[in-house]
Amino acid sequence: MTVIAVLGSTNMDVVAYVARAPGRGETVTGRELRTVPGGKGANQAVAAARAGGEVVMIGAVGTDEYGSRLRTNLEHAGVDTDLLHTAAGPSGTAHIVVDDEGSNAIVVIPGANGTVTALGPGEKAAIAAAGLLLLQLELPMTVVTEGAMTAKARGVRTILTPSPVQPLPAGLADSVDLLIPNEHEAAELTGHTDPRAAALSLLRQVPEVVITLGSRGCLYAARGGEPVFFPAPEVTAVDTTGAGDTFVGTLAVALGEGRSVPEAVGWASSAAALCVQRPGASTSMPYRSEIDAS
Ligand code: ATP
Repeated sequence: MTVIAVLGSTNMDVVAYVARAPGRGETVTGRELRTVPGGKGANQAVAAARAGGEVVMIGAVGTDEYGSRLRTNLEHAGVDTDLLHTAAGPSGTAHIVVDDEGSNAIVVIPGANGTVTALGPGEKAAIAAAGLLLLQLELPMTVVTEGAMTAKARGVRTILTPSPVQPLPAGLADSVDLLIPNEHEAAELTGHTDPRAAALSLLRQVPEVVITLGSRGCLYAARGGEPVFFPAPEVTAVDTTGAGDTFVGTLAVALGEGRSVPEAVGWASSAAALCVQRPGASTSMPYRSEIDAS
């Protein structure tokens, strides 16, 4: 089976539920606090593992109690954590305030993720041995770029989710095979709010693009061809958190199995549609049997 390597973040999401978010200098009493394993890298790893992928996670957790929970969460999903290092200090955390209208405000503190600045021989070997590499932008740009270049040199297909969105250094963009922004990230990267125009612009940087469009589906474009729109299944969404990471993780599994991009996009869309019908992020990601049955 094709191994999927994920070079990315693990965060504990510390979520405070409040009627109304506090203003500057204000204190409010909240209703509930939840700690939920997250981080875009870890979420994509869990999505891929649940979809039947063989997944290796490269990154770091801290020596605090969150670190062991983050590691265990990945292991329960079947992700290989041998290259998930434990760095002295706190794990990455995302401090999220969710109000009664569902709006949120988030502070991310990279913690251990910020210690992943370069790849060692073990990480390079794991990337070289993988069939696909998944990257996001929640680790330092230096190591994301190094990961992409390592993969490129070994002919390993590289998929980048450009989140949190920021300009892509040439060394990174040149090494990415498939870029998967959501429509906001695509607009931010290109200045085009029209997904088709954004896709054509992004093809100047990378050979293939999928722009995800929430409930509308996604747009796939490859150099030399016309962009193709794929509608999402019509479902009743209760919580879209994690939809993007489910889409990417499951797409990687399908591509790793040698399926064509259109077929893989259809399967990933079914998986993401299952995810949005249930509350939570990594907890709502579907298993392979559910995706195949949907
Ligand atoms: P998130 O940050 O919420 O994880 P995202 O902004 O990265 O998501 P989206 O474009 O919102 O990414 O969604 C990714 C994919 O999930 C879409 O391309 C689509 O296939 C699926 N999806 C999202 N929302 C819905 C929905 N309401 N109904 C069906 N499918 C959905």
